[in-house]
Amino acid sequence: MKSEIIAVGSEMLTPWRQDTNSLYLTEKFNEIGVTVAFKTIVGDRLKDLVGAILVALGRADVVAIIGGLGPTEDDLTREAVAEALTLTLRRDDAQLAALHARAASWRVPMPENNLKQADVLEGATVLPNPNGSAPGQWLDTIFGGYRKLVLLVPGPPSECRPMFDAECLPRLRTVLPVRHIAKRTLRAAMIPESQADKFLAPIYTTYPDIETTILAHAGDIQLTLLCTKADAAAAQQRVDELAGRMEEALEDWLYSSDGESLEQIVLYYLGLRQATLAVAESCTGGMIAERVTRVPGSSRSFLGGAIVYSDELKTAYAGVPSELIARYGAVSKEVAEALAYGIRRHTGATLGLGVTGIAGPTGGSEAKPIGLVYIALSDDQKTEVTEKNFRGDRQRVREWTTQQALDLIRRRLR
Ligand code: ATP
Ligand code: MG
Repeated sequence: MKSEIIAVGSEMLTPWRQDTNSLYLTEKFNEIGVTVAFKTIVGDRLKDLVGAILVALGRADVVAIIGGLGPTEDDLTREAVAEALTLTLRRDDAQLAALHARAASWRVPMPENNLKQADVLEGATVLPNPNGSAPGQWLDTIFGGYRKLVLLVPGPPSECRPMFDAECLPRLRTVLPVRHIAKRTLRAAMIPESQADKFLAPIYTTYPDIETTILAHAGDIQLTLLCTKADAAAAQQRVDELAGRMEEALEDWLYSSDGESLEQIVLYYLGLRQATLAVAESCTGGMIAERVTRVPGSSRSFLGGAIVYSDELKTAYAGVPSELIARYGAVSKEVAEALAYGIRRHTGATLGLGVTGIAGPTGGSEAKPIGLVYIALSDDQKTEVTEKNFRGDRQRVREWTTQQALDLIRRRLR
């Protein structure tokens, strides 16, 4: 079952507004086994709108049209659907009464153009809108000899989402054949993307009934496996089988078999080892602490730490000897080591993490280029330093450093 979402509104063809409703609808469609095959954004012009609707009807079974249901001149969705399907629009008495009642309750006069919100497509079911004035419409019709479901929902997200949940989903469930979706999310850290694809593509391409999507961001790869079948157990079994093979291929880059974040996994291991963590962050400026403290309950294992940007604070808060900084420079293996060791001793944590680097865009040199970072991890056995050269702009270097640091903790505790 294929669907197309049409977002209507010229504002979404400017640089300032985005169509976000379709993301919500896509998630809900997927939950009932409907794939979103196309998304279209079209401006408030009748001719373009009719064209987009005709194209959608030609290639999708379910067409959800968002927006353009209001009272203004540029709200043309009803007219466009009527024209595309050669249906008449009739002014619905019950809807008119509802509009009048609404205006009366607000004690505002009813402008003439408001009335077009009571126009209903021939054969359509009116979908009530408790959060606004424009009702939605549900149309079960035939186009080019095929059955088509056409949904009209209002544009404001506060109206669109509740209406889709309350009115569209239950109707779709009764009309569509029963389908079950099984889903797994695998995550891996710091694996080069090209490598991941080299390992994984030969595996997942042999499972054509599973939709595999790969999202990569700052040293993190997320693989989502979706399988839709009439039988729930069969779908789950297929997804688990592919997930198992991918887990094997990802080796120890894999950190999560069910979608958990890297910081969640780090905290899980800290809890398991009854260990605590403290951080001394220079170039990441608190990003590592921020990631860790996103997780509820992180206070059980995360003690805290210091943002030690200046040389003085590296000495004062993490006990880095000033001679060491003078001798090797703030961005050095030695200072990273001293940060990790110092913050561990200062706080009494089981594990100390120290990070120093050059995030850019200035401050790089021949010997110490932008993107050079040192990440040190200290426990009562040893203090180890990892040197990395990350490419990219300031934000990217900081995000990769944060990810690398968390992954080093994971690998130490595993
Ligand atoms: P109204 O009765 O408010 O006029 P409408 O159905 O005509 O409702 P629009 O006029 O198209 O809806 O949009 C109303 C508001 O909702 C606008 O602020 C618009 O930016 C926002 N909006 C419309 N479509 C979307 C979308 N697909 N994603 C996010 N916001 C949207
Ligand atoms: Mg409008």
